[in-house]
Amino acid sequence: MNCSVKKPEEEEEEEEETTWRDKPLHGMYYRQIEEVAGIKKTYQWLNKAGLTDSTEALIMAAQEQALSTRAIEANIYHSRSDPRCRLCKEAPESVQHVVAGCKMLASSAYMERHNQVAVIVYRNICTQYGLEVPKSQWDIPPKVVENGKAKILWDFSFQTDKQLLANKPDIVVMDKEQKRAVVIDVAIPADANIRKKKHEKIAHP
Ligand SMILES: [Zn+2]
Repeated sequence: MNCSVKKPEEEEEEEEETTWRDKPLHGMYYRQIEEVAGIKKTYQWLNKAGLTDSTEALIMAAQEQALSTRAIEANIYHSRSDPRCRLCKEAPESVQHVVAGCKMLASSAYMERHNQVAVIVYRNICTQYGLEVPKSQWDIPPKVVENGKAKILWDFSFQTDKQLLANKPDIVVMDKEQKRAVVIDVAIPADANIRKKKHEKIAHP
């Protein structure tokens, strides 16, 4: 039996997939992600987040650049002449700009999103080491918590011999049994900037 021969329906499916991935706009997100991250983990939220269909559809539309941002209205629909962002009035208002590039959102919405993600990581670490988990996920964690197994620091400034650009990592886990410290810094870059951000974090700790 020749195992390399595919059933007709499998062939069809594969062809269909290739077709949408090759579309200039609708395949763009997939192609960008494929280059910098694992596709399976990237789409885990579709199975695990428990979002409603309409919320999932909205997120997918944003990923496909299919929302009526001012850049789309000006450049694609031609229903507006100025593509610039309604908040900062500087860069074109693309989905990418709204989710990760607008300076008017940097100190508010982006900061809040960053902290919310870091708190989820923090809470999981506390559970893992049997430390008390803050009651509400909206609470800012204490600077230091400790038990016999570990010491966890949150947003803690370090004095270093050599001057570092960032000496305040989001979380530091000091595992007393393994005698090991792990520094965790959370970043939420736009999908296309994952690689760039990773290099930044490693190059400028
Ligand atoms: Zn803006």
